[in-house]
Amino acid sequence: MFAGKAIRCECGYEVRASDEDDVVEEIRRHASEAHGITFSLELARKLARGTTQGAGDDGSIRKEMQ
Ligand SMILES: [Zn+2]
Repeated sequence: MFAGKAIRCECGYEVRASDEDDVVEEIRRHASEAHGITFSLELARKLARGTTQGAGDDGSIRKEMQ
């Protein structure tokens, strides 16, 4: 069950939402507006679930987020 989540970007921005879909949306919006990158829905969903711990399996997310 999903019971609220807070994801912190490397820039210090924190995405908070009680619903996973909202977190996913916020992650994608922040990445686009603040960093000019586009997260796929799948990738943002992984981040929201913490299955990537804020970084892709290859570490590409952290690099892209800088
Ligand atoms: Zn950021």
